[in-house]
Amino acid sequence: MKASNTRLQAVRDAVNRVDLKNFRFWFQIVAFVLFVYGGYFAIDLGSRLPFFSCGYNDEGRAGICYLLPLQHQLSQPWPRLFSLASIAILTGFLTFTLWFIVLNKGWCGYICPLGTIQDWITALRRRIGIRYSTYSESQFEQLTKVKYLLLALMILIPLGVGGGLFSHDVSPPFCLICPARMVLPAFTGDVSQFTIDFSSKTAMVMTALGIAVTALFLVGSFVRKRFFCFFCPMSALHYLLSKPALLKLKKDGNKCTRCGDCYRVCDMGIKEIADDVTTVNIMTDDCTMCLKCVSSCPENGTLKATFAGIPIFESTEEGFIKRMGKGLQHGK
Ligand code: SF4
Ligand code: SF4
Ligand code: SF4
Repeated sequence: MKASNTRLQAVRDAVNRVDLKNFRFWFQIVAFVLFVYGGYFAIDLGSRLPFFSCGYNDEGRAGICYLLPLQHQLSQPWPRLFSLASIAILTGFLTFTLWFIVLNKGWCGYICPLGTIQDWITALRRRIGIRYSTYSESQFEQLTKVKYLLLALMILIPLGVGGGLFSHDVSPPFCLICPARMVLPAFTGDVSQFTIDFSSKTAMVMTALGIAVTALFLVGSFVRKRFFCFFCPMSALHYLLSKPALLKLKKDGNKCTRCGDCYRVCDMGIKEIADDVTTVNIMTDDCTMCLKCVSSCPENGTLKATFAGIPIFESTEEGFIKRMGKGLQHGK
């Protein structure tokens, strides 16, 4: 018993010393290849995935982002929607929730191809030597609400389509303006989404808006880290469901010295991670669960990621010193 406890502790120590930056870099590449090209190898993980594995990437996708089928289901004519068909919607939602509960927002920090592309754009900016810009606190507070507005519209507009209030040309509304619809198929050589649909005025406006949002995504991600994630309705949906999730980000405020190291590495600029010394479940709605804050905290056991209550990665002085030696990036 004692020997197995010692072995377990040795594994934990090794994990806490891991070079998270390197691990995450390779993990994101593998996930990107899987979800952008996995379809070529007949991998299909269903259509309820809690991140942007885009359904418009016809050939390459290894599964479909849940927002696409959700909007289609909600835009059914009301008599059908409010009938037995609603069971299919509930089953889909349940499947999505189950996927999500496993990894919480870890899907964003490690797997979502659109998140990964933003990190690659940031890496490019850093290589060129251009500094990133940040939001002021009041801008931050306003921006953080936009994703909830988009989530509400993403549900209400399809319902309006089903009820005959809006044209079918605005459906699925979020996908029509989502940058993933254009960017991800382009990685498999399919640029057919970069077109304006002239079949009706509404279709023309929506597809033109989609191109404008994609351009904004590319420019914005170059200027600000994880620019699009602030506005992402999937992130809002995640947060609303995050209570029962198994993966958690926790903080022991009694051990925190408020040095601010965690805040300085946070791509989302979440100040609470350093300032809040009372909340235990410290994940906020903008958090992507990248765990960079955990890896940069020098205090033993102050920040930790737990899975079903079991610590899987926690801040340690030793891990901090080792990572600093390898050149931990502070905020460039
Ligand atoms: S918040 Fe970012 S990483 Fe998460 S699903 Fe949205 S785009 Fe992807
Ligand atoms: S790095 Fe650790 S000790 Fe420093 S402010 Fe963040 S949680 Fe507190
Ligand atoms: S709070 Fe921590 S886990 Fe969340 S985005 Fe910031 S650095 Fe990543």
